[in-house]
Amino acid sequence: MTLPTSAKYVIIGAGIHGLSTAYHLAQKLKAAGKGSGADILVVDKTAIGGGASGIACGVVRNNYYQPAMRALMAHSVEVWESDPKAYSYHQVGYMQISPEVMHEQVGTIYEQQKAIGYESTFIEGTADCQKYMLGLFDDWQAKNITSVLHETRGGYANNTASLYGLAGKAEAEGVRIATGVDVTGFEYGSNSGAVTGVITNQGVISCEAVVVGAGPWVLKFWDMLELPKAISVKDRDGTLHDNVPMWKFWCLEEGTLGVDPNMHKTNDGRMPPVIHVDTDAPLYSDVDGSLITDKLWGLYYKPDFNFGGIQGGASPYKVEQDADQVAIDPYGPDSPDFIVGDDFIHMWCSMLAHCQKRFQGKISAYKHKEKSGGLGCFTPDNFPVFDTFRENVYVIADSNHGYKMIGVGKLVAQELLGEKSTLLEPFRFGRFAKGELHPTSHSPFPWS
Ligand SMILES: Cc1cc2nc3c(=O)[nH]c(=O)nc-3n(C[C@H](O)[C@H](O)[C@H](O)COP(=O)(O)OP(=O)(O)OC[C@H]3O[C@@H](n4cnc5c(N)ncnc54)[C@H](O)[C@@H]3O)c2cc1C
Repeated sequence: MTLPTSAKYVIIGAGIHGLSTAYHLAQKLKAAGKGSGADILVVDKTAIGGGASGIACGVVRNNYYQPAMRALMAHSVEVWESDPKAYSYHQVGYMQISPEVMHEQVGTIYEQQKAIGYESTFIEGTADCQKYMLGLFDDWQAKNITSVLHETRGGYANNTASLYGLAGKAEAEGVRIATGVDVTGFEYGSNSGAVTGVITNQGVISCEAVVVGAGPWVLKFWDMLELPKAISVKDRDGTLHDNVPMWKFWCLEEGTLGVDPNMHKTNDGRMPPVIHVDTDAPLYSDVDGSLITDKLWGLYYKPDFNFGGIQGGASPYKVEQDADQVAIDPYGPDSPDFIVGDDFIHMWCSMLAHCQKRFQGKISAYKHKEKSGGLGCFTPDNFPVFDTFRENVYVIADSNHGYKMIGVGKLVAQELLGEKSTLLEPFRFGRFAKGELHPTSHSPFPWS
């Protein structure tokens, strides 16, 4: 496709957010009689799914300690459920299985899920949890578990298939998607700070509005837009912290145990929910019995026919370098720096074996050849920023929460047409200065 020299809306990034925004914006423009998909151009420097969305584990859940996140996730789950075939979505459910230190907080999640009508079951106490889990898997053996939150909605979607499904729906509305188009800067109006043109390796695209859905590359766009590299953050106690870096990276570690995915079916032969276990039980090596950790640890896993086995991950690790110094490219499994190593494989396979006997002694089946994992770019409080900058640039910075957030694009489309979304309101950039931060949980993961 020859790159157009102008488009009313230029969306940067063909990941979950860029594509979802494009599709829903096209629909809304048409419905409002204000235009159509032909007004929208999506550009991506590599390909559809060239970023985090294309390598995501694909877990879709509501389980969040923060009320605003839960409300937003419930909305996104509705979007997943609206077209499971096109989105390659499997509604198998999701389980948060936790130790005593998380019991009370997970209990509040359950109560609030009930309040918003999001179906889940909550089991409490060691004996009842064990009984419930044994009812699903007769080899369940995870220790120190005192609560189980079982969401019956949610589950997972196949990453690339869902993106192509979304892209197909957007293109059917007339949206154009141009790949191999690298955005290098912006042109600004003479009388305002608004962007009038998107500068690319293939020329300038003049535009009226821009959406940045650049995933882990968001900080590059932040720089292009000349936004602050460090900010002041007022914490929930009212203490002001100056000079806090706007962006930081964490590295997500995931992998696949190359066994038949069917071996993880439930006792009654069904595909199981996505399992997420956090526990403070000591973790011992499934290889030699040595102690791996006696600190709180967590893992998640699901049978996945796309990955060809049991796929999942563990807590990510923080990248200590300044965000500016981190090599984002080549991204994901192509990165020489940010892929999983033997330590992760040993730990994650031992975690699987800790939880279910069927995974004991299976480390040799780990799929070493399929490299996995990748970087996520996080905000100062580890929660998303959805906001407009420079008058006409909408930045979707999901702080790596976001494959599951397919509904955000629908809400962004609504905001682009002038209608504010109450679901997105708690995620404005201004919350850092105002001290309106989201509560934090005891989970070992930065995104719970
Ligand atoms: C290993 C891993 C597993 C994950 N698992 C899950 C999960 O199970 N569930 C979940 O909800 N979330 C998960 N996440 C988080 C989730 O993947 C991201 O939050 C989400 O995909 C980000 O979507 P996005 O559309 O913002 O960005 P991306 O999908 O990263 O897309 C950004 C796009 O922008 C393009 N781009 C970048 N720079 C430029 C430029 N200069 N010019 C043009 N185009 C550009 C890139 O090529 C890319 O295609 C995971 C993340 C990782 C890394």
